[in-house]
Amino acid sequence: MDVVEDVSELRRRVGAERCAGRTIGLVPTMGYLHAGHRSLLDAARRDNDMVVASIFVNPTQFGPGEDLASYPRDLKRDHAVLDAAGTDLLFLPSAADMYPDGAGAQAIWVEPGALAGNLCGASRPGHFRGVATVVTKLLNMVQPDTLYLGQKDVQQAAILRRMVRDLAFPVSVRVLPTVREPDGLALSSRNAYLTPEERAEAPALKRALDCALAMIGTGERDVARLVAGMEEVIRRDAPDGRIDYISVVDAATLQPVVSLQGDVLIALAVYLGKARLIDNAEITIG
Ligand code: AMP
Repeated sequence: MDVVEDVSELRRRVGAERCAGRTIGLVPTMGYLHAGHRSLLDAARRDNDMVVASIFVNPTQFGPGEDLASYPRDLKRDHAVLDAAGTDLLFLPSAADMYPDGAGAQAIWVEPGALAGNLCGASRPGHFRGVATVVTKLLNMVQPDTLYLGQKDVQQAAILRRMVRDLAFPVSVRVLPTVREPDGLALSSRNAYLTPEERAEAPALKRALDCALAMIGTGERDVARLVAGMEEVIRRDAPDGRIDYISVVDAATLQPVVSLQGDVLIALAVYLGKARLIDNAEITIG
């Protein structure tokens, strides 16, 4: 695998492949790779001639008091994961290349608007603006045919899909299912923050989603009762957890639904110790 830090060098290498008619898949990450990232890399490998992965802990998507400085990093292990997945090129941009005038001095941003107004966007103001802006930069630098994203970060995926459509980026978006631990916990780099006790409580998020799906399965159509059922599971199975939100929204607009109908997204975020865990389930209700 080639490791490239310089943007001109990246453009030269990827440009040569593009000119030769080869397809390019991009998997953007913040590193500390796990099997969730691996599933994106595997899909990119199956679909494309060239797989480009990026690792960049993007400062503009962290709010004040969030974990930018302590975000887990292990480049040596990431290198091994990427190699094993058959990645062709690892792009490791510097903060100075991504934000030439400094992250705080970025004048033009990609604003996701109402799609960033609720769910994680409500408790992380500016987060999705940072995500949309950095992914725009990465798309402009790599110019891939396909962008690979994970369903675990469903609001991010919805915003980036919409960004690609609204701003006419010449790229396809593929969203891959959430990869989980055997006990249901969605894999996340931030799971590294959990103490053994918190780790034992963390599968409560998936259990709450399963509870909601089971309630829908037996005919429940009342959103408030669904949310109450999920809260009960979190209180019971994750007593140290603090619920940020449990929301039922339209899968396309991310706006709250009053009646359970059509493509619905059930999403939640729970603070557990130093970690903020998120999970979601999508369901079509006829
Ligand atoms: P991150 O490094 O956390 O920014 O994630 C990079 C990409 O991997 C994003 O598109 C995530 O949605 C995706 N991803 C993270 N965790 C998972 C998971 N458990 N399953 C599938 N995709 C994931």
